Amino acid sequence: AISLSSVTKSFGEFTAVKDLDLDIRSGEFFSLLGPSGSGKTTVLRMVAGFEPVTSGTIKLHGTDVTSKAPFERDVNTVFQDYALFPHLTVAQNVGYGLKLRKTPKADRERRVAEALDMVRLPQVAGRLPSQLSGGQRQRIALARALILRPQVLLLDEPLGALDKQLREQMQIELKQIQREVGITFIFVTHDQEEALTLSDRVAVFNNGNIEQVGTPEDLYERPATRFVATFLGSTN
Ligand code: ATP
Repeated sequence: AISLSSVTKSFGEFTAVKDLDLDIRSGEFFSLLGPSGSGKTTVLRMVAGFEPVTSGTIKLHGTDVTSKAPFERDVNTVFQDYALFPHLTVAQNVGYGLKLRKTPKADRERRVAEALDMVRLPQVAGRLPSQLSGGQRQRIALARALILRPQVLLLDEPLGALDKQLREQMQIELKQIQREVGITFIFVTHDQEEALTLSDRVAVFNNGNIEQVGTPEDLYERPATRFVATFLGSTN
C-alpha cells in the first residue's frame, strides 16, 4: 500500500498540494482526477521521487520513502509523451532498464519477450518506434515500465495523446493488463469518464486539496461536495 500523510508541496509562495492524506491499497486501480492545475501530477511526481515534498511523509509498503531517490523506490512511471528512444528498436527500448541494471543478455531477452506478450505486441520487437502507431507506442512504453516488475506503476495521462477510438480501446487493455499483472496503478487523468470507467477508487482533486475519495459508484451517487457533483456532471 501507499500512504501519504499531511503532504504539502509549495513552489515559492504558491502551495500546489495542501496537507494531503491519501491511502492507496495494493493491487488497486486508483485514479487522481481533477481539473488542470489541481495538483495531480505534483502528487504523482512526489510519489515517484522526482519532486521533494515540502512537508509530510510518503510510505510505500510501510517503509518511509520520503527522502529516498526515485531508483530506491519500487515504483515506475509512464508519461503521456512516451519518450521512446527513436534510434533503438522496440526490443532495445523495452530492455533498456534491464541493461542499465546489468541483467544478463539471455534473461533480458526472455523478459523482453514476456513484456511484449503482456502488451500483446510480440510481433513488433525488431521495429523502430517511428514504425509504430500511437497506440502501439503507448503499449511499448507500458511494456518498458512493466519489465522492471514494479509493485506500483504511476501513469500520467498515458492515453492523452490518442484519438477517442484508440483511447477507448486502450482503456480496456490497460485495465486487463493491470488485472493480469496484479500491480497497483496510480492513474492521473482530467477525464471523469475515463476515471470512473477504469478505477477501483478515485480521488477528486480541486485546488491542491482532495474533495472526495471513493468508488466510482460513491462519487456518482453520493458526491460529498458541490464541486464533485459539478465536476462529474460536466463533459470535456
Ligand atoms: P494538469 O492536468 O494540467 O497536468 P495537474 O492537476 O496535474 O494539472 P500540477 O501539474 O500538479 O496540476 O500543478 C499544480 C499547480 O502547481 C499548478 O498551478 C502548476 O502551475 C503548479 N506547478 C507545478 N509545478 C511547478 C513548478 N515546478 N514550479 C512552479 N509551479 C508549479
